[in-house]
Amino acid sequence: MEVPRLASGHGSCLNSSKQMSVPDDSASVSLRCFGVGDGWPSADRRHSAYLYRLGTARLLVDCGDGFSQSYKASGLSYEALDGILLTHMHSDHVGGFSMFLQGLWLERRTRPLIVAAPAGGIPALQAWLEATLLSPALFGFPLHWLPLVAGQAVEIAGVTVEPARTGHLDSLKAKLAAAHPQVCFEALAFGLSGAGKRVVHSGDIGAPVDLEPLLGQPVELLTCELAHIELPELAAVLRRQRIRQAVFMHLGRDHWADRPGTLRRLADALPGTEVRVAVDGDEFTA
Ligand SMILES: [Zn+2]
Repeated sequence: MEVPRLASGHGSCLNSSKQMSVPDDSASVSLRCFGVGDGWPSADRRHSAYLYRLGTARLLVDCGDGFSQSYKASGLSYEALDGILLTHMHSDHVGGFSMFLQGLWLERRTRPLIVAAPAGGIPALQAWLEATLLSPALFGFPLHWLPLVAGQAVEIAGVTVEPARTGHLDSLKAKLAAAHPQVCFEALAFGLSGAGKRVVHSGDIGAPVDLEPLLGQPVELLTCELAHIELPELAAVLRRQRIRQAVFMHLGRDHWADRPGTLRRLADALPGTEVRVAVDGDEFTA
């Protein structure tokens, strides 16, 4: 399908609330972590939501529970986003989607918005909006659905988005797909190229080798989950790549409970990479 090209330039503003770090607008690429939680309920982490800025383009990756509130608290304009990219259909990645769209409607967004998701998940997302009384006919902005297929790059607001398949949902698919043929079991990682830089966002993976197709060229920033994989196995794959900075998120509960130890083990395992462990509200530049 044709991908609408959106005009650049935003009326967004960024505040410096106590919870959020002050952003560095001079950097050409930034990542703002709105929710770094894993799939479990957590008192100190919201669920997955990551805002990337590449040049003038702003793309949200995943829209987990809590995003509507944390976005409002950030002071960002409701016109700011160019697109929302969803990695897969687990609730910790899409649970805040309909509420955030309700916010875009009530806050009177006018700019077009692209929602890109695994192709098989889009009918369910559309039905969910309708079921929560959010018919796009009400919206004051055009909503463009963009079905993503692994291996087929698309362009959003000047950013090249490369979806790559991960095996995160393979075992669930083997168990449930026959009885639930309408369910989307696709899970994606993303390569994002824009402003002369390259970023990789892991989404949820089945094995570290899932990331290799996206890491064949140098990356400025890798945002990588640490819930479904063993750290030594992951490090063995990442050590072979040219990654300037790696931000780890979606930590499993043991890793989260011992963040200093996790950070130390990651830094020891990845000597050529700047390593970070993200908490909600963190901002990173690349
Ligand atoms: Zn997850």
